[in-house]
Amino acid sequence: MDSIARYEHLYIGGAWVAPEDGGLMESVDPSVGRPWAVVAYGGKRDVDKAVAAARAALDGPWGRMPGHERAALIRRFADLYKEHARALAVLETRDSGRALRESLADISGHSNAYHWWASLADKNAGRTIPFDDSVHAFTSRVPVGVVGAITPWNVPLMAALWKLGPALAAGCTVVLKPAEHTPVTSLELAKLFDEAGFPPGVLNVVPGYGKDGAGEHLVAHPGIDKIAFTGEGTTAKSILRAGAETMKRFTFELGGKSPHILFADADLEQALNAATNSAWTLCGQSCALGSRVLVQRPVYDRVVEAFVERAGRVRVGLPLDEATHMGPQAHEEQLAKTLSYIDIGRNEGAELVTGGRRLTGPDHAAGYFVEPTVFANVSNDMRIAREEIFGPVASLIPFDDEDEAVALANDTAYGLTAGLWTGDVGRAHRVSSRIRAGMVWVNTYRFIRWSTPYGGFKASGWGRENGIEALDSYLETRTTVISTTGRFPDAYAR
Ligand code: NAD
Repeated sequence: MDSIARYEHLYIGGAWVAPEDGGLMESVDPSVGRPWAVVAYGGKRDVDKAVAAARAALDGPWGRMPGHERAALIRRFADLYKEHARALAVLETRDSGRALRESLADISGHSNAYHWWASLADKNAGRTIPFDDSVHAFTSRVPVGVVGAITPWNVPLMAALWKLGPALAAGCTVVLKPAEHTPVTSLELAKLFDEAGFPPGVLNVVPGYGKDGAGEHLVAHPGIDKIAFTGEGTTAKSILRAGAETMKRFTFELGGKSPHILFADADLEQALNAATNSAWTLCGQSCALGSRVLVQRPVYDRVVEAFVERAGRVRVGLPLDEATHMGPQAHEEQLAKTLSYIDIGRNEGAELVTGGRRLTGPDHAAGYFVEPTVFANVSNDMRIAREEIFGPVASLIPFDDEDEAVALANDTAYGLTAGLWTGDVGRAHRVSSRIRAGMVWVNTYRFIRWSTPYGGFKASGWGRENGIEALDSYLETRTTVISTTGRFPDAYAR
C-alpha cells in the first residue's frame, strides 16, 4: 500500500508554517476510498496571519512594484508551472479522482494562461476625461486589494488559476482557500510560487473547512477586500450575507444546468461527440456540463440509441491509468447525491436507458465509481432536469421547433453555458442570441480559454472569470480631478 503523503504546513507570508489553531485533516483518494494524504488546515488565527501577510505585501514591495516587474515574476511562475504540469496533473488526479487524461489536458494549458495574464500586468491604464480647460480629470486603475479566493473540489488548479491570474495582473494579493476535499495541489502551486521569487505574502495558501472554518473566517474578515468564489449557490448566498457587513466585492462562479440543443439539421456525429462528452466529462462534476440534452424529434430516437452505445464505450476505472476515460466521483457525499438523483429520476417517470448503478467490480473496489447514465423522455419540469446533479447523468428532452427549444433552454434557474448544433447559419444566430446564458457555443462545446469571459446569468453567478472582464473585477477606478487654476469660489461671500 502507498505511504501517506504529508503536507503539514500552511503557506503564509512566504514561509511554511504549522497551523496555529487549525490542525491536520485527511484527504481521501476517491478511487480507493482511503486517505492518501494528511494536510494542514487553518483556523481563525491562521487566516488572520495570512490576511496580515497579504496586506503587508500589498502595502509594501508588491504594491510598489512596476507592472512590468510583476509581469516578469508571473512569467517565471508560468514557466515553472509548465515544467511541473505533469506532476501537478498526477496529484490533482490523486486528490480529486479526475481521469489523468483530463487533468493533463487541462493543466498543461495553465502555463499559457498565466503567460497571458502576465502580458496584461503592465497595461492597467486609466483614461483622460475631457471636460473643459478648468480641470484635468483622469482615471487610474488600482488593485481592489487583498483577495480571498475560495475554490471547489472538482477543478482545484483551474479554479485557482481563474482567480490568481487576474489578481496578480491587477496587482492584488491573495489568500487562497482550497476545498477541504482537494487541498493538495494548491499547496504544490505555492511551492512553485515560492520558487518563482514573489515577495512574501503575495500568495498565501490556507486549506481548511468552509462553514465554521477558514472559509467563513476569510469571508467575515475586515482585511479582505474581495471574495472570489467558485462553488454552490447556497454557499454563495451565505457568503454574501456574511460578507455584507464589511461591504466586500464579490465574484461568484456557481452551478449550471446547461441546455445542449441538437437540431435535426446538425452534423449529428459531431454533435454526438460533443453531447456525450460534455455529459460525462469530469465524471459529471463540471459546472459547464451539457446535462440537459434537448433533441429535435426527427432525430430523437437516433440520439437516444447513440448515447446508449457510447455509454458502453466509456472506460470507467482507475483515474491514474491514462486509458481511463472517467474516474470516480470526487467524494462519498457526491456519490450518494448522484445515486439519489438517479432514484429521483426513476420515481419521476423518466426512462433510465443505460447506467444508473454504482460500480463495485474488481477494478472499482471501494472507489466512488458510477456508470455513465442516460435518462430518456425527460420532461423539463422534472427535478433531474432542474437541479444540478454533478454526476454523469444526461437527461434527453425532446422538442419540436426552434421556439420550443429556446423556451426549454431558458426555462431554468441557471444561465451559465449553452450549446447548439445546427447546419443553418441563420438559426445559429437566431437561437444563440435568444439564450440567457453567459456562454453559448455553436457547433462546439466547452471551448473555454483564458481570454474568453466565463460566468453566469441568473443563479449561475456574478461577474466573469477569464478575459479582460475578469481583470476589471480585480481593479477599482479612481477618478482624479486637478484644477488648472487652483481657484475655488467662497460660497458664503456676502
Ligand atoms: P461548495 O459551495 O460546497 O464549496 C466551495 C468552497 O466553499 C469550498 O472551498 C468550501 O470549503 C467553501 N465553503 C463552504 N461553505 C462556506 C462558507 N460558509 N463560507 C466560506 N466558504 C465556504 O461547492 P463544491 O461542492 O466544492 O463545488 C461544486 C459546485 O461548484 C457546483 O455547484 C459547481 O457547479 C460549482 N462550480 C462552478 C464553476 C464555475 O466556474 N461556474 C466551476 C466549478 C464548480
